[in-house]
Amino acid sequence: MQIPAPLERLVEEFSRFPGVGRKTAQRLAFRVLSYTPEEARNFAEAIVRVKEQIRPCSSCFIFTDNDPCDICSSSSRERNQLCVVEQANNVLAIEKSGIFHGLYHVLNGAVSPLDGIGPEQLTVPQLRERIRRENIDELILATNPTVQGEATAMFLQHEFEHQVSRITRLARGLPAGGDLEYVDDVTLSEAFSGRQPF
Ligand SMILES: [Zn+2]
Repeated sequence: MQIPAPLERLVEEFSRFPGVGRKTAQRLAFRVLSYTPEEARNFAEAIVRVKEQIRPCSSCFIFTDNDPCDICSSSSRERNQLCVVEQANNVLAIEKSGIFHGLYHVLNGAVSPLDGIGPEQLTVPQLRERIRRENIDELILATNPTVQGEATAMFLQHEFEHQVSRITRLARGLPAGGDLEYVDDVTLSEAFSGRQPF
């Protein structure tokens, strides 16, 4: 059976999601096909809204509908601790563990010379500016335990060792090659409380 063009288009859109193959994409598209017109409109509107209303925080680059974000503007956070992560969704994992009460800085990736990604392609210039402007006593390097994540942590340590008195790296024990996103709360809490001077 030939899939009608509008349905094929939706299948193709779903196939672009990470980890979604053709079969799953078809299943999702057929699910949407069973929606009422109102459900379909709500779904489409949610996608449009997220692009219209969600922006990276101008200070930490977490995705937010308030700028500065709730964490940056909170009076109950410790403003002298700055935790550097690769992606905004890493913040969700750390926040869920409840172990950290400082501020964040999202790099939007990791240093990867082979892919032409250097510090200047990330939010390192903005981090430099924050470290100059804000009173940071501890920089916690929570980049992923991958080759690129380690290289990025090493770069940041060299870059800021004379500006920040304490630079720490999350403790070993995180699965090597993994992503913070998939680490369970207990492991993440332990990695945080066991963080070492870098
Ligand atoms: Zn923020």
